[in-house]
Amino acid sequence: MSDDFDLVVIGAGSGGVRAARMASGHGARVAIIEERFLGGTCVNVGCVPKKLFAYGAGFAGEFELAASFGFTVDNWRFDWATLRDNKSREIERLNGIYRNILEKAGVTIFEGHGRIESVGRVSVDGQRTLNARQIVIATGGKPFVPDLPGREHVRISDDLFYLDTLPHTVAVVGGGYIATEFASILNGLGVQVHQIYRRDLFLRGFDHDVRQFVADQMGEAGVSLRFNTDVTAIEERDGKKCLTLSGGEELPVDEVFYATGRVPKLDGLFADGVGVDTGDNGAVRVDEHYQTSEAGIYALGDVTDRLQLTPVALAEGMWLAAHLYGEHKPEKPLDYRDVPTAVFSHPNIGTVGLTEEEALEKYDTVRVYRSQFRPLRYSLSDIQEKSLIKLLVDDASDRVVGLHIAGEEAAEITQGFAVAMRMGATKADFDATIGIHPTSAEELVTMRGGQTVSR
Ligand code: FAD
Ligand code: NDP
Repeated sequence: MSDDFDLVVIGAGSGGVRAARMASGHGARVAIIEERFLGGTCVNVGCVPKKLFAYGAGFAGEFELAASFGFTVDNWRFDWATLRDNKSREIERLNGIYRNILEKAGVTIFEGHGRIESVGRVSVDGQRTLNARQIVIATGGKPFVPDLPGREHVRISDDLFYLDTLPHTVAVVGGGYIATEFASILNGLGVQVHQIYRRDLFLRGFDHDVRQFVADQMGEAGVSLRFNTDVTAIEERDGKKCLTLSGGEELPVDEVFYATGRVPKLDGLFADGVGVDTGDNGAVRVDEHYQTSEAGIYALGDVTDRLQLTPVALAEGMWLAAHLYGEHKPEKPLDYRDVPTAVFSHPNIGTVGLTEEEALEKYDTVRVYRSQFRPLRYSLSDIQEKSLIKLLVDDASDRVVGLHIAGEEAAEITQGFAVAMRMGATKADFDATIGIHPTSAEELVTMRGGQTVSR
C-alpha cells in the first residue's frame, strides 16, 4: 500500500507535532509517525510529569510553613502510588488531547516505527510506505549512560515516572538539569538522596554564584552532594545497589539514577545506504533552515542537539512549517540569543542571557548587582530558605546582559523579564520601572550600587 504526502514527520514530540500541525494549517498534506507515545518526551517522561512531581515534592515544606500561619497539619503522610497514578492519568488525558489536535488539524497519524527508505520514501513498521515530498526528522533524544561495571543496575529518567515503590535511599549521578531536578524532587518526597557529580560544582554552564547558592540550599535541605566523585562500579548486594566511588568508598542505596546527558535518537531510522551527516556527538547536522545534508530531508529539536528545550523545538517546528509551506515565509532564521531557561530544582533557577563569566569574556567592564534575601513568606517560620537575584550590566551601554534568579517563582519571574532583555532593556529602564510590592520580583527593579568588575 502506498500513500502520498507533502510532508512526513517522524516523531510526534514537541517539535514534530508543532511542525505537522502548522504545515497542515498552511495547506500541506501531512502525516506524522510515532512509535511510542503522542506528545513525545516532554509530555510523557519529561517536563510535564517532572513538574507535577516537583509540585508534589514541595508540599512537605508547605505543611511546615503552614504551621507558622496558625494551621495545624498533623499526621500528614505521602502516598507515592497516588501521585504516580494521578500523574499517569493526566498524561493519558494529554495523549488524547495531542491526538485530537493532530486529527483536527488534518494530520494523518501512523503509529509505528518510521524508517527513511530513500529520499522521499518513509516506511511505517516496514509494512506501509509513504511517499513524501519533504521529510522531517523529529525523533528527539534518549538517555546516555556511560559504560561501567554494573551498568545493568542503573535506572534512567524515564523509570522515575513509573516506579512501583518509592525507594528509601537513592544515588543520582550527574550534575545537569535532570540530576539536579530529580535530586530535589526525591529529597522533597522524603527519600535520602546522594547526588554524585564528577567535577567540583554542579550545573556547569550556569552562573557561578547561582550554582554555589543552589548547592548550599540543597545541602541545607538535606541532599548529600558528593562533588569531585565518580562511580567506578555498581554491584547488587543484599537487595541494595552498592556503588564503589572514586575515592574507594562504598555507598549502598536502593536505586541508582543516571542523568548523564541525552544523545540523539536515530535507532533504525535509516535503511541501509541511506543517511544524513551527523556531528561528533551523533546529532543530525542542519543549516539555518533545518535542511540536512540531503535535499528534502529536514531535522529539528533534540535530534539536532542545539538547545534541548521544548520551547526551542516548538519554535523550530513553527519556523520550518512556515518556511516550507507558509504564505509569508520567515524573513530571518530563528534567533537563539537570550533563550530563557529554568531548572525546577528546589530552589528553582531562572536564567536568561549571560553568566558573569561569559559577560566578562564579551564586555570590558560589567556591573554586577547581587541580592540575597529571605522571602517574606518564610518570616513567621524557622525556615531559613533564601532567594538570590543577580543582574549583569554591560557598563558601556548600560544594557542588562544577564539575569539570574534562584528561589521561589524563579521560572515564572524570569519569563517576563526575558521579553525586556530581548528588547534590549538597560539598567536605567529597570530602575525607571516601578516595583510591585511586596514581591520577590520587585528586587529586580530596585537594585542599586552594583559592583564594577573589569576583565
Ligand atoms: P521528543 O519530545 O523526544 O519527541 C521525539 C519523538 O519521536 C518521541 O515520541 C519518540 O518516540 C519518537 N520517535 C523516535 N524515533 C522514532 C521513529 N524512528 N519512528 C517513530 N517515532 C520515533 N524541556 C523544557 O523545556 N522544560 C523542562 O522542564 C524539561 N524537562 C525535561 C525533563 C526530562 C526528564 C527530560 C528527559 C527532558 C526535559 N526537557 C525539558 C527537554 C524536552 O523534553 C525536550 O527538549 C523536547 O521533548 C524535545 O522535543 P523533540 O520533539 O525534539 O523530541
Ligand atoms: P545535561 O547535559 O544537563 O547534564 C549532563 C550531566 O551529566 C553533566 O553534569 C555532565 O557533567 C554529566 N556527565 C556527562 N557524561 C558523564 C559521564 N560519563 N560520567 C559522569 N557524569 C557525566 O543533561 P541531562 O541529562 O541533565 O538533561 C538533558 C537535557 O534535557 C538538558 O541539557 C536540558 O537541555 C534538557 N532538560 C531541560 C530541563 C528544563 O528545562 N528544566 C529539565 C531536564 C532536562 P559535566 O558537567 O562534567 O559535563
